[in-house]
Amino acid sequence: MSRKILVVGAGQSGLQLALGLQTQGYEVTLMSNRTADEIRSGRVMSTQCMFHTALQHERDLQLNFWESQAPRIEGLGVSVAAPGSHAPGPTQRAIDWVGRLDGFAQSVDQRVKMAGWMETFAQRGGQLVIHGAAVSDLDYFSRTYDLVLVSAGKGELVSMFGRDAQRSPYTEPQRALAVAYVHGMGVRPEHPDFDAVRCNLVPGVGELFVMPTLTTSGRADILFWEGIPGGPLDAFKGVKDPSEHLALTLELMEKFTPWEYARATKVELTDANGTLAGRYAPTVRNPIGRLPSGGAVLGVADVVVANDPITGQGSNSASKCAAAYLAAIVERGDKPFDEEWMQSAFDRYWDTAQHVTKWTNTMLQAPPEHVLNLIGAAGQLQPAADRFANGFNDPSDFENFFYEPEKTAAYLGSLTGQ
Ligand SMILES: Cc1cc2nc3c(=O)[nH]c(=O)nc-3n(C[C@H](O)[C@H](O)[C@H](O)COP(=O)(O)OP(=O)(O)OC[C@H]3O[C@@H](n4cnc5c(N)ncnc54)[C@H](O)[C@@H]3O)c2cc1C
Repeated sequence: MSRKILVVGAGQSGLQLALGLQTQGYEVTLMSNRTADEIRSGRVMSTQCMFHTALQHERDLQLNFWESQAPRIEGLGVSVAAPGSHAPGPTQRAIDWVGRLDGFAQSVDQRVKMAGWMETFAQRGGQLVIHGAAVSDLDYFSRTYDLVLVSAGKGELVSMFGRDAQRSPYTEPQRALAVAYVHGMGVRPEHPDFDAVRCNLVPGVGELFVMPTLTTSGRADILFWEGIPGGPLDAFKGVKDPSEHLALTLELMEKFTPWEYARATKVELTDANGTLAGRYAPTVRNPIGRLPSGGAVLGVADVVVANDPITGQGSNSASKCAAAYLAAIVERGDKPFDEEWMQSAFDRYWDTAQHVTKWTNTMLQAPPEHVLNLIGAAGQLQPAADRFANGFNDPSDFENFFYEPEKTAAYLGSLTGQ
């Protein structure tokens, strides 16, 4: 008899797991608080740039439906505004380079991907239940399923999972987030022949990320401000009108990143739901959720490890978590999915996730001198730029050259022969 698994939440991790388990012959029920059409016509949710390893997990399950349509992101660039240069004249760039990715990255609007994957799951005979699950529902279902996976993102179901204070250094949001999807963005003149994610750092103020994506109306670009709370970029809270949101995005670009504004003068929003603003505190949680009746459920991806999007890792991590859990479930065979097993499945994911959390939490702080040296040197040393860029695919590599001044110096020395 096939084993019955309930997946609660139809995002990157929940759908990838549900579709993967379905292929392996499990009897899967997927619970989503929205229909595919509601997701497709709803608000944008992320910038969802995914790098090679995470994309490969999708390819392994033959879920890379949009690969040929989505822009190939072949580089990752870093520009740093010269500190204090934005008042009163135009902001200058102190650092500006682009690293080449070994494997391309892609961003497929989650409205497109989740709606499409959800329809595929149902077409393949999966049981799809449209219902916003409450803890009491899970309490009931945990008795009728062999395993309940909670992949409901940062919503209220996280209350079942205790916060891991040791792994969560922040209690407050570290950035105010503001996203706008646009058509009509020009190319970066430094590399007109290939696409790149452009990271623009404005010291003491925040960051602007610009990246191409595939959205519901075809190719588009995303303008994504991350503002230090209380600073000049933390200005989107009361903005409800999407055109006002875009106007403010552009105004801040003109002031703080004029080199990006220069290619944004003709942009328009992709659609009325193409903007998003919000904030959340990065949090790691205990992977085992407790139900009132004493049962246990396993948390997935953002439920258990939610990092700030400053390093663009969340959907990458969701893909890696889904792949790790899928392997752990299949390897378990007929044995019970008990708490010991749940903890070991999470530990397997944490092997990679810990590097993402460490790096992301570091990037939220003002960079120490050796990191500034590294980012500066990458402008002259292409291998350093390439290595930094490829760290977005595998953040564990930062252990080798990023955190400790001695290791950074040794790495740069190995490139310059000093
Ligand atoms: C502004 C912003 C920019 C980002 N940029 C990037 C980026 O460039 N690269 C990257 O890798 N990551 C990025 N991320 C992070 C990434 O989007 C998330 O980490 C990722 O989507 C998490 O996947 P998930 O499956 O855990 O949860 P989610 O994608 O949040 O999916 C959870 C699903 O569960 C549903 N749900 C919630 N509650 C219930 C309930 N009670 N019952 C049923 N369903 C429920 C939700 O509606 C949702 O569909 C960004 C995030 C934000 C906010």
